[in-house]
Amino acid sequence: MLRIQSSGIRHGGRTSFVTANSEKQASKAVVRSYGCQMNVYDSGKISNFLGSEGVSITTELGEADIVVLNTCHIREKAAEKIYSEIGTLGEWKQARRAAGGSPIVAIAGCVAQAEGAEILRRQSLVDVVVGPQSYQKLPDLIMQARAGRKLVEIDFATAEKFDRLDRAAHTPAPTRAAVSAFLTIQEGCDKFCTFCVVPYTRGEEVCRTPASVLAEAQRLVADGARELVLLGQNVNAYSSIEDDRDWNLADLVAALSDIGDLERIRYTTSHPRDMSPDLIAAHRDMPKLMPFLHLPAQSGSDRILRAMNRRHTADHYRRLIGRIREARADMAFSTDIIVGFPGETAADFEATCALVEEIGFSSAFTFKYSIRAGTPGAEADDQIEEPVKHERLLALQALVERRRRPINASAVGSVVPVLFEKRGRHPGQIVGRSPTFQSVFASGDAALIGRTCDVRLTSAGPNSFAGAIVAASER
Ligand code: SF4
Repeated sequence: MLRIQSSGIRHGGRTSFVTANSEKQASKAVVRSYGCQMNVYDSGKISNFLGSEGVSITTELGEADIVVLNTCHIREKAAEKIYSEIGTLGEWKQARRAAGGSPIVAIAGCVAQAEGAEILRRQSLVDVVVGPQSYQKLPDLIMQARAGRKLVEIDFATAEKFDRLDRAAHTPAPTRAAVSAFLTIQEGCDKFCTFCVVPYTRGEEVCRTPASVLAEAQRLVADGARELVLLGQNVNAYSSIEDDRDWNLADLVAALSDIGDLERIRYTTSHPRDMSPDLIAAHRDMPKLMPFLHLPAQSGSDRILRAMNRRHTADHYRRLIGRIREARADMAFSTDIIVGFPGETAADFEATCALVEEIGFSSAFTFKYSIRAGTPGAEADDQIEEPVKHERLLALQALVERRRRPINASAVGSVVPVLFEKRGRHPGQIVGRSPTFQSVFASGDAALIGRTCDVRLTSAGPNSFAGAIVAASER
C-alpha cells in the first residue's frame, strides 16, 4: 500500500485514460453519491475531473471499469453500510477482469476520510481511498492503481483545498447545468459540535475566492442554471479577502445578483452564530435571494445546546428568527433537530418542543442522536435509551407536522412564482420550487422547464403543493 503525500502527485503531462487504457477504448465510470448536497456537488466535480481525462460517466455498472463510491458519514452506521455496498462489487470486478479489463474501485468522501487505510485492510476489492480534499487527484490515483498499487490519499492541505476549488471552476462540465445548480463556496468547519464528524472529515473552514465563485457561477448560468444554491458546511461564515477588500456572504450574494440570467440565489447550511446583520439585510434588499433559510437549531434546551457546544442559546435562536422575519416577513424556515442527545431529560425535550411550537418551521429534519466514533458525544456516559429516543422522535415529528399543516394550508389559493426544474412522475407534469423552497407540481409543457411561471396553489400535500400555471415569464 502506498500513502501518497499531496506534493507527490503530478498534474501535468501525464498519459490520458484514453490512450493508457489496456482495453484500447475510453474508460467508463459509475459515480455513486451518498448523503448531503455537498456530496452531490462533489460527485459532479469527480465526474468532471474524470471527464476531463476522457472517462465517460455511466449509470450501467456492467459497462463501467471504474466505480467511485462518494460516501457520507453523517448517517448512523455509514461505514458499515459502505462496506456492505463494496462487497456487492465482487462479481462485477471478477467479470471485468475475466474480460481482460483492469477494474478499479475508489472510495471517496467522508467515510474514506474517517476510515482511511482501514478500508483497504477490511476490503481487498478497494484500490483507492480518497478524502474530500483530494478529488482532483483521483484520475492520477486511478492510473497508479491500474499498475497494481493500493493507494490512500486523505491528507488535509489548506492550500490544496483552495487550489482544488479554484481549479474546479475551470474544469469543463461534460453536461448542461441543472436549472438549480449547486456551487460550493466554503468547506469544512471550526465549530466542533460534540455530535458531529464534519470538522474531522472535512477539516477546517476554508473559503473559495470571490473571483473563483463568480467564474463558476457565470459558467453555470451560461450552461442553463437559473438558480444557484451556494454550499458550505458553514456557508454563512463565508469570508474572503480579495484585492484588499473583505467579502462576506452578503457581498457575494450582491455580486452574484448582477448576473443577468440568474434568477434565484439560495445558500445552505448556516449556523445561527454566523447570521450577520449584513446577511439579514440582504434578505430584505436583494430580490434574487430567496425568502427561505435552513437554520439548524438542534435543541431548544440551553443545557443540551451547551453540551452540544453549539455556542448559541434557544433565546438567541428565537431572537434571530424574529430579526430575520422583521427584515422579510415572508421568510420560511427549516431546521435540524436531534433528540436523545446524551443527558437529555424530559424537561430538555419539552424545551425543544416549545421552540418548535413557537417558530413554526416549514420543514424540519429530525434525528435520533447516534454515536459518531471520535466525537466527544460518543464518550458521554449518560447515553439515552433507544426506546426513549424513538418515542421523542415520533412526538417531535408529530408536532412539526401539526405546526406545518396550517402554514401550508394557508398558502393554498395564493399565486407564487415557481421556477420549473424537471418533469414530474406523471405524463404532462412538471415540477419546480416556490421561493420558500416548496415543491410545486403542475400540468405544463416541458418547454417551461428552466422558466419561472406564476402558479396558483390548488392543494397542499405533506411535502409539496399541486398548482395550476396562470402565467409564464418572458424569459
Ligand atoms: S456547525 Fe455544523 S458542520 Fe460544524 S460541527 Fe456543528 S453541526 Fe458539524
